[in-house]
Amino acid sequence: MALNPHSVIGVIGAGTMGNGIAHVCARSGSHVVLYDMAQASLSRGLALIESNLAREVAKAKLSDNEAKASFGRILPTLDQGALAQCSVIIEAASEQFAVKAELFRQLDRMMPPECILMSNTSSISITKLAAQTKRPAQVIGMHFFNPVPVMKLVEIVRGLETSQATVDVASQLAASLGKAPVEVNDAAGFVSNRVLMPLINEAIFALMEGVATAEAIDQIFVLGMAHPMGPLKLADLIGLDVCLDIMQVLVGELGDPKYRPCPLLMRMVDASWLGRKSGRGFYRYDQ
Ligand code: NAD
Repeated sequence: MALNPHSVIGVIGAGTMGNGIAHVCARSGSHVVLYDMAQASLSRGLALIESNLAREVAKAKLSDNEAKASFGRILPTLDQGALAQCSVIIEAASEQFAVKAELFRQLDRMMPPECILMSNTSSISITKLAAQTKRPAQVIGMHFFNPVPVMKLVEIVRGLETSQATVDVASQLAASLGKAPVEVNDAAGFVSNRVLMPLINEAIFALMEGVATAEAIDQIFVLGMAHPMGPLKLADLIGLDVCLDIMQVLVGELGDPKYRPCPLLMRMVDASWLGRKSGRGFYRYDQ
């Protein structure tokens, strides 16, 4: 099955990633149903899409009319039933297995058999999500990077039973969004977060142990390793709750204590210091 230009794409979750995914899908000409269970998240996600499209207009990447048309192609909804018209679903709900498993069971019941179910999960097994459905060949990881409108990579994650046809559709969809698909197999954290998250976690250990300040730790990676931002600032961008969820998947699945989440990360999440999205993480974002 190939997606045609009239395909409607369903995006679940209007948070950090979901609003970016809806943005790039709509900008590429697709109609998008953007579903979230929380009105506050939906409103915040839509406001971000509008301001990010306006930023692209200001940078002359998009005309004003194209931006308005893109925004008009997004149907925001709190009604999960509105997804029924979609040919493909990209799930970007919270990084909790129970949440995603329940969504995949519901989607499997309500969506037509040919519909492909994609997950933007950062670390949860695609094979385990596929096992919640009666269509494991049509379940795949479609892992975008933050901020979605800017970052080129989509890590395409092949579950044990994912078919080649599904991999092809996911790769074509990524390319049609102007992204570069890279295929990997299903393993905890895939490639990206298996390598990135232990780096972030270790930077948090260094901060907790007083090896250096947050600013100094980040500067070392920016000035010494040419990273565009340091690991602590990146953790704030990703969301500290998401980082903690991923570390818990890594330690749970790989069983090696080297993946144990740093206690400071756990305390900060307990305090709802989640990074940019909550206004406070390793840095303050009061404005
Ligand atoms: P987020 O917390 O910003 O947003 C999650 C959204 O999902 C919220 O708006 C919430 O209301 C909604 N939601 C939760 N359960 C739902 C349900 N049952 N039905 C409908 N909506 C529901 O999280 P995020 O950072 O956007 O992460 C979403 C997914 O993307 C996660 O799987 C995460 O691991 C992955 N991801 C995150 C990043 C990142 O940098 N934050 C990068 C790549 C992938």
